[in-house]
Order: sequence, then structure tokens, then C-alpha cells
Amino acid sequence: MLRYVVHSIVTHSFDALILGGGAAGLMCAIEAGKRGRRVAVVEHADRLGKKILISGGGRCNFTNLHCQPENFLSSNPHFAKSALARYTPADFIALVDKYRIPYHEKTLGQLFCDRSARDVLGMLEEECRLAGVSIFLNTKIREVKRAADFVAHSADAEFHAPALVVATGGLSIPKIGATSFGYDLARQFGLSIREPRPGLVPLVLDADDRARYCDLAGLSAEVIASCDGQQFREKMLITHRGLSGPAILQISSYWKRPEEIRIDLAPENDVTAIFGDSKTPRTLAALRTELRTILPHRFADRWVEHHAPSAWTNAALADFERKAHSWAVAPAGTEGYEKAEVTVGGVDTDELSAKTMESRKVSGLFFIGEVVDVTGHLGGFNFQWAWASGAAAGRAV
Ligand SMILES: Cc1cc2nc3c(=O)[nH]c(=O)nc-3n(C[C@H](O)[C@H](O)[C@H](O)COP(=O)(O)OP(=O)(O)OC[C@H]3O[C@@H](n4cnc5c(N)ncnc54)[C@H](O)[C@@H]3O)c2cc1C
Repeated sequence: MLRYVVHSIVTHSFDALILGGGAAGLMCAIEAGKRGRRVAVVEHADRLGKKILISGGGRCNFTNLHCQPENFLSSNPHFAKSALARYTPADFIALVDKYRIPYHEKTLGQLFCDRSARDVLGMLEEECRLAGVSIFLNTKIREVKRAADFVAHSADAEFHAPALVVATGGLSIPKIGATSFGYDLARQFGLSIREPRPGLVPLVLDADDRARYCDLAGLSAEVIASCDGQQFREKMLITHRGLSGPAILQISSYWKRPEEIRIDLAPENDVTAIFGDSKTPRTLAALRTELRTILPHRFADRWVEHHAPSAWTNAALADFERKAHSWAVAPAGTEGYEKAEVTVGGVDTDELSAKTMESRKVSGLFFIGEVVDVTGHLGGFNFQWAWASGAAAGRAV
């Protein structure tokens, strides 16, 4: 006898459907839910906020006290201003304080949890609960169509809503659930995308520089890294394949092949000044000793080995000095999305309202968080953008 299995599709209706249960999606859900909207968050992973949990080395650098529009990259540097002004670090700190989550300022205004990133995620989950937000985990949306409402289809459900918020993040860390879904959806609805690329990512040196320096992996120094009119004075770390550390991660977001990065290895130091004094012998040993006061010894020695002055003339010493302040590095590439903290580029801000994050072309369609062409510097700025853009859309849906 034949047995028929009828696969029934469950239909859900909401005022707003949010795709992606990360930082931006959860904040949007909370704001919209607090306004009495019936909201659903649809997440394809088996839990919410996985990136929050791994952020800041597990302690979540959830905001930055000195957040300014200048801390963000975007094709339109003005775009983020409105949302950032209407949901500030103080607003998020007030929420953290309400939950009595202990935190500290690590450096440069960066606020981290004392205990664990789980505190921040737990707080957002509780706020969702209080705001009556429905959460659907393990739910992969296969396609989205627009009839009168948006209709999002998963394997066994259909979600209907007049407002669709895309909060599916960028491409970094595919192994915890990053997908290109948000970009695909934007294209499907005719919105343009600024070419995505990995940001806040270690750089890979070319073969020659790898052979020269990478056996020094683990050494670090304070440098000024510059590229594309931007510069960052922070630590640089030599890795097994290239360069990392905050200075390099920051500048990587501005770097595009085949540009060069310039690195000042001795900021505010005049390495060859010792030779102005006629008593100091002009020797490699003296040069090494001087550079060792600025750089880790093995790196100083290696630098002198590869950049020894061609003569002991003033001109050759000036050339040595110039090179130490302007190491021209042409990276072979980056460590890619597997190691990138963020994705630079994304949904073109020209397509969106700066006030609400709604598409100018497709009413009811919103994009928030990292999927948008707004990328923060290292230091809590990316979460601040997720909170601010999420709140902007949550107040509008
Ligand atoms: C290792 C690491 C550490 C970081 N540390 C910090 C930090 O300390 N401070 C800081 O400010 N920033 C940090 N960042 C960056 C920050 O985590 C992101 O910028 C931020 O999480 C972006 O929020 P979002 O909500 O836009 O995207 P995400 O947090 O990435 O959330 C997107 C969600 O959408 C889901 N999703 C994707 N595709 C689909 C789909 N098709 N259907 C349903 N769901 C989908 C994903 O599973 C995910 O849960 C870090 C990033 C990494 C990788």
C-alpha cells in the first residue's frame, strides 16, 4: 500500500522580519519590539550572536567611548553620521549598566566585558524576550519574493511581513555562518554593491620579504602604518606569513592591491643622530646598538643586515634614516575572510536612507550592520555601527 507523506508549510505573519540574529539584527528587533511591532528574527545558525561570542578575544569590545564618524570607512563618509548620532556609545553603556554587566576600558576608549561576551549576548536575548520578539533558529531562508508583502521561504515555513530587514553580516569567518546572502538579496532587488573585500585582516608579505623577516614571527614594535591618506600608530606584529597587530589590521582596511603600505619603524626617533657626534664611530655595530633601543634586538639586527648604508657618508646615512621611517611594503595579499574581522564594502549607501536604513528604491526593505558599506576601525566601532544602524531601522519598521 502506498503511504503519502504530506509536507505542510507553516505560514507565519509579522510586522517585521529580520534576517540574521547577530548584533545588528538583535538590536533592530529589540527597538521594533519595544514599539509594539510583531517582530521575528530568522537565523540559520543553531544559536544567536555567534560572532558576539568570539569577539574581542571572548570579551566583546562592545563600543568605543571616542566614537566619531572619522572612525568609519564608507564610499560616503557622511552616511553613518545620522544613525551614530541617534544611538551613541552612551546609549549602549546605559543598557549594559542596567544589566549590571561589569566592564573596563582597555585602551583608547575600547570597552570590554570583565567576564565574558556571553554577558552582552545574554542581555540582548533578554531584551528580545521582554520585547516579545520571536526567534527562529536553524532556519535557512532559501528565497525571498515580494508580493503585497515580503515572503521569505525556508524548507518548512513561509514568513510574511511588510518590512524585511537584512542583517546577515559580511563574509568574514565563514566557518561560523557568514554568507553572501545579504549581497545576493540586495542584487535581486536591484541595489548596487560596493565590491566587498576583507578588512581588519593580517597581511601576507611577498616571497622576498617573507624570506627576510618571517622567521622573526612573534616580534612586535610600535610603528606608524600608512596607506591611502590614513595612518595608525600602534603595535605591529611579525607573523609566519607576514604582518599583523593593530597597526596592520587597521591599515589593511584601506589597502588595495597593488598599492604599497609605508611603515615608520622608528616614529619620532632619529636613528642616525648619534653619528652627528664625531666621537661615535660610523660602524654597523653602532648602528645596530642604536636601532636596538627602538626595535626588538633581532629585528633591529635584521634590518641593519638588509639595509646597511652603502657608505658612511652623510647622504648614505640620510638614506638609511629615510628607509627606517618609510619601509615600503607591497603585500602579496591578505589572510582572507577566514582571518578578517570585517568585510569592507557592501550595500551601497547611496541606495539607503541614512535615517532609517530603508532602501530608496524598494520600500519596506532595510539593510543594517556589516552588510552595508560602512566599516569601523578596530576598537569597538563595528559593534557601535551594528547597534546604531539596528536601532535606526528598529525605530522605522
Ligand atoms: C573574530 C572577530 C572578533 C571581532 N571582535 C570585535 C570587537 O571586539 N568589537 C567590534 O566592534 N567588532 C568586532 N568584530 C566585528 C563584529 O563582530 C561585526 O562587525 C558585527 O558582528 C557585525 O554585526 P552584524 O549583525 O551586521 O553581523 P553578524 O554579527 O555577522 O550577524 C549576522 C548573522 O546573520 C546570520 N546569517 C548569515 N546568513 C544568513 C542567512 N542566509 N539566513 C539567516 N541568517 C543568516 C549569521 O549566522 C549571523 O548570526 C569582530 C569580528 C570577528 C570576526
